[in-house]
Amino acid sequence: MLHRIVVVGGGAGGLELATVLGNKAGRKRLAEVTLVDASMTHLWKPKLHEVAAGVLNADLDELNYVAHAKRHHFRFIMGRMSGLDRDNKELVLAPHYSNGEEVLPERRLSYDTLVISIGSNTNDFGTQGASDHCIFLDQRAAAEDFHRRFLNQYLKASQSHSVEEPHCNIAIVGAGATGVELAAELCHSAHELVSYGFDQIKPENLTITIVEASQRVLPVLSEKASIAILQQLEDLNIRVMTNEMVTEITEEGLHTKSGKFIPASLKVWSAGIKAPEFLKNLAGLESNRINQLIVKPTLQTTLDERIFALGDCAQCPRPDNDSPVPPRAQSAHQQAMLLAKSLIGSLKGKALLEFQYEDKGSLISLSKYSSVGNIMGNLSKDFTFEGKVARWMYVTLYRMHQFTLHGTLRTLLLIIRDRINRRASPNLKLH
Ligand SMILES: Cc1cc2nc3c(=O)[nH]c(=O)nc-3n(C[C@H](O)[C@H](O)[C@H](O)COP(=O)(O)OP(=O)(O)OC[C@H]3O[C@@H](n4cnc5c(N)ncnc54)[C@H](O)[C@@H]3O)c2cc1C
Repeated sequence: MLHRIVVVGGGAGGLELATVLGNKAGRKRLAEVTLVDASMTHLWKPKLHEVAAGVLNADLDELNYVAHAKRHHFRFIMGRMSGLDRDNKELVLAPHYSNGEEVLPERRLSYDTLVISIGSNTNDFGTQGASDHCIFLDQRAAAEDFHRRFLNQYLKASQSHSVEEPHCNIAIVGAGATGVELAAELCHSAHELVSYGFDQIKPENLTITIVEASQRVLPVLSEKASIAILQQLEDLNIRVMTNEMVTEITEEGLHTKSGKFIPASLKVWSAGIKAPEFLKNLAGLESNRINQLIVKPTLQTTLDERIFALGDCAQCPRPDNDSPVPPRAQSAHQQAMLLAKSLIGSLKGKALLEFQYEDKGSLISLSKYSSVGNIMGNLSKDFTFEGKVARWMYVTLYRMHQFTLHGTLRTLLLIIRDRINRRASPNLKLH
């Protein structure tokens, strides 16, 4: 019987891993490769803020797992992992419902090697009112929901007969990449909406406030890059409040520890992550306080050498650094590439490889206005750069993901398709 490799979670890391394993091991019948995902389609998560702002139509950018699996010699199973039976080497998939009807019953799936790459969810740290009143931008449905609510503000304003000019107040908790990029995209969308005739809310009457607990925006970037971004946010009229801890969220807005109140009709929480709850002590595996599975440099979980984890749901050590590998798309990509090579080697009797994270820097896109980035250089120095080069490198990150999934020819075709779509479709998703 062929060795059964099951990858659970087809996101930034898992889908790349399944694709490479399918191409290199599935096609040559070295192993049977299966990908399991809770959804039928993949959308690269760093694109979610663009979906929320309406500048990306997720329907045009999504990838269908079934079709992709057929092309790349692996099997796709739709299902949400809910448990694990390590003794019998089986994972449990929860029943799947559609419109209240059970479409798929609870199932069990056997593995010889299991890779868990199910990503993370937003962590609101138990802040009062956050889960009731905030949108967490960690799923496509949430991003689309935010977009609908944003458009509804403009639709309502178009019917308003008040003598006062209508306003729209948006508050974003967290000045990390997601919060900052979303704020800039929303400014852009506000201008686009006016050009489509939704001019009752003037761009100057859209108030976007980013609230951040630490001392500066994008604390992961260098101070120089952080200052450059703050300046550009201020130029876009985005209000940034640093050193402000949000303590409570109500229907009306945000309360901070220092006693301030920020009124907001739309509220987004983008201030932290945690791995899915069911990973905590899953079948006795070791996990940390944010539910991430703890892995060794080989990406094997500490207590079961047949189970691996990567990406946001794993805590992976760094030999040269006290903090673990950061939860980012580039980490998930690097781990997927290493693990693909490592697992194919082990099928041929070679030893597993050890993961070493290479920080290539960070890039922040402020919509069409600007991009700012840090690229890590030699001798621990990093370079900060802005403008068109940074924008080009930002777009390249996504193209690299597509290149890993589709190869050169199809990626080129997708680039051409995107260019045609940009010319043929409205600049903004208007429904
Ligand atoms: C708005 C936003 C912007 C971002 N921008 C950047 C950026 O610019 N650069 C960067 O490096 N990082 C960015 N990130 C972070 C980046 O998206 C994540 O670090 C990366 O996607 C993690 O990859 P992953 O493979 O671990 O998980 P994901 O890409 O989240 O994929 C997880 C997959 O697992 C599936 N899944 C979840 N639970 C289950 C289950 N129980 N059973 C089966 N399947 C399941 C999901 O459907 C999904 O397909 C951003 C994140 C967000 C939210």
